[in-house]
Amino acid sequence: RTVYVNGEYLPETEAKVSIFDRGFLFADAVYEVTSVLDGKLIDFEGHAVRLERSLNELEMKSPCTKDELLEIHRKLVELNGIEEGLVYLQVSRGSDGDRDFVFPGEDTEPSLVLFTQNKPGLANSPAAQKGAKVISIEDIRWGRRDIKTVQLLYPSMGKMMAKKAGCDDAWMIQDGYVTEGTSNNAYYVKDGKIITRPLSNDILHGITRKAVLRLAEEAQMQIEERLFTIDEAKEADEAFTTSASAFVMPVVEIDGATLGDGTPGPIAKRLREIYLEESRNSAI
Ligand code: PMP
Repeated sequence: RTVYVNGEYLPETEAKVSIFDRGFLFADAVYEVTSVLDGKLIDFEGHAVRLERSLNELEMKSPCTKDELLEIHRKLVELNGIEEGLVYLQVSRGSDGDRDFVFPGEDTEPSLVLFTQNKPGLANSPAAQKGAKVISIEDIRWGRRDIKTVQLLYPSMGKMMAKKAGCDDAWMIQDGYVTEGTSNNAYYVKDGKIITRPLSNDILHGITRKAVLRLAEEAQMQIEERLFTIDEAKEADEAFTTSASAFVMPVVEIDGATLGDGTPGPIAKRLREIYLEESRNSAI
């Protein structure tokens, strides 16, 4: 695999980042994951805009322009022959060669790393045909989940808790209300209406969420953005999640309660189809 590190395209075994990098020592880094279908990038613009926002919120310098980022994404996709898969991008605050809680000075450059993941069959995943089983867990993450930082230890532990319970993922709960999945936004459907939590600092402003809500509206579906409990979701007709890497993923079980007939619901399936079609058509 050829990866990108600070201006260079290198074999992954030769790519190096300092052990003093603040991404490594302090999780002082932000990231984006852009999916690739038919060798093209899905919603690159949305990811580039959110990256800029994450950097601004953390007063981190931008490592390069949007056009340069696009060029790097495209070059990595081409060099690695990716037809279906992902491009992972990470910007860290870099390092001035020591460990200090205080941010380094203006002359310290951010560190930019990108790599691809080849995922043939991503759009046709058997997991999406089966639907996901989720458990609920307490949301104990920090209060700025709208910033896409690499502090993913708790979501990673949540995923492990789900696996141990024989499930696929976990939905997190704060003050009695569902925030989001470990790596996706959460929705349920009742009597034809799609319910999802409104945007705030409590959840990541999903790029896929934005696209799917727009498409749902265009398809005359009813949407309500409000707080919801896990008990409401357990009583739902269907449920699903959205993310750049799994698109629209139907959810068929929550905390052991089967939704509908236990197979992916019609609205989730329809949204997945429309989203994939529109994404392929607008990919760059
Ligand atoms: N919430 C969280 C916590 C996530 O990690 C992700 C995916 N990175 C999402 C939501 C979905 O965001 P997107 O649609 O931009 O991938």
